[in-house]
Amino acid sequence: MDKKVYTISYGCQMSERDSETLTAISTKLGYSRTEDLSQADLVIINTCCVRESAENKIIGKIGQLKKIKEKKPSLVIAVAGCMVQQPGILERLQKRAPHVDIWTGTFDHNKFEELLHASLCGRKIALISQREIDVSEVVPLAEKGKLHVNVNIMYGCNNYCAYCIVPYVRGRERSRPKEVILDEVRSLVESGCREVTLLGQNVNSYGKTDGFGYDFSDLLKAMDKVDGLFRVRFMTSHPKDLSDKLITTVAEGEHLCEHFHLPFQAGSNRVLQMMNRYYTREYYLERVHRILDEIPEARLTTDIIAGFPGETEEDFEQTLDLVRTVPFTQAFTFMYSKRSGTAAADFPDQIPLEIKKLRLQKLMGLQNTRSLAWRNEMVGHNCEILVEGPSKSNAELLTGRTRGNELVVFQGNEHLIGSLINVRIDSANSWTLFGRIEFPKERR
Ligand code: SAH
Ligand code: SF4
Repeated sequence: MDKKVYTISYGCQMSERDSETLTAISTKLGYSRTEDLSQADLVIINTCCVRESAENKIIGKIGQLKKIKEKKPSLVIAVAGCMVQQPGILERLQKRAPHVDIWTGTFDHNKFEELLHASLCGRKIALISQREIDVSEVVPLAEKGKLHVNVNIMYGCNNYCAYCIVPYVRGRERSRPKEVILDEVRSLVESGCREVTLLGQNVNSYGKTDGFGYDFSDLLKAMDKVDGLFRVRFMTSHPKDLSDKLITTVAEGEHLCEHFHLPFQAGSNRVLQMMNRYYTREYYLERVHRILDEIPEARLTTDIIAGFPGETEEDFEQTLDLVRTVPFTQAFTFMYSKRSGTAAADFPDQIPLEIKKLRLQKLMGLQNTRSLAWRNEMVGHNCEILVEGPSKSNAELLTGRTRGNELVVFQGNEHLIGSLINVRIDSANSWTLFGRIEFPKERR
């Protein structure tokens, strides 16, 4: 009988990519994907521990699966990802969730097949390596025929921002060689992929610690030449390593999307220093100007943290000011959450929850207004979009994305899925643009 796998993914794109790999490994063992939890024979929960809110949600979700497992004892539940890797957490989790069959971390993807085999023989297993695996041992797999695929170009992080757990749970920075990435992308294109997002915690330092004779810009230039690939995206750009060469490469590239996800985290130099970010507000603004001077149509998005320990009202005001100054099309705003093991967890002057909440609300309110104003400006303009598929909110309509990564909803025929077309924007809300087809473009 056909066995089904149901995957639940939390966290960043990196984590999403890991979920794809784990799911693809299970399909090698004969599982096929389902969107219906009640049909599942295997549930994979890929976790994230970067923020506390995600962690609480995940623990709740694992708890909910208990009832399903009671009704269907053959169900295999695998919990993977960086949440499980935090020191001392496994025992606590195992006590709370004895119904889980497999516990495994981000350094163990190459053993997931074995773990699944063992669990099918009725064993309960926990395998959480603390040593990062060599990039050559990692097997990133993707579902065949997907239009957009996230592609890891590097793993880990060496930056140790004071609030961040990532370097502790994802290990030291390691980059995958250019040829390996290009081979992966070429085979993805053969199976229908038209757009990739190159992923790393700090793509601007690609290859540095591995001593490659080429850098991220060189990788992008090679990627730009892959036949049949329409678009190349990348994230995340750490502002401290954003080079002029990269900006020029994006400006000149044919398929390189003019979108920079450039987290600034805080607007005050005092807080930036406490965060260990290695740039100032002035430097950040200089980088933004440099991008917009060279690529006026570039889109900028960012991440911001409200309520970092010691952040005063004046500091926070400077964060708001930066949001008013830079034309971000979107900002991912987070309330600071204390991650044990990180430097900031022991800082004095932790900000009370109520204040953090108020600051976050202010920040979100401001950015929503800015995003809407920005999208309204696009009304009347034409944009090139890659058609992705039916809209999630209305299956009669199609969606696609601009080169700047803005979502566009429009009316069109399904045969357009996977092609580049021109759309004229008619209206907008804070998150979405609504348009109509101008004229179909030839496939490149
Ligand atoms: N490597 C990326 C960020 C990865 S984590 C970079 O340097 O920009 C994604 C985002 O989560 C971060 O940009 C930050 O805004 C947020 N974040 C990380 N740790 C956090 C914490 N402890 N509390 C609140 N937000 C956090
Ligand atoms: Fe975390 Fe900083 Fe590394 Fe980003 S660069 S993953 S925020 S430590």
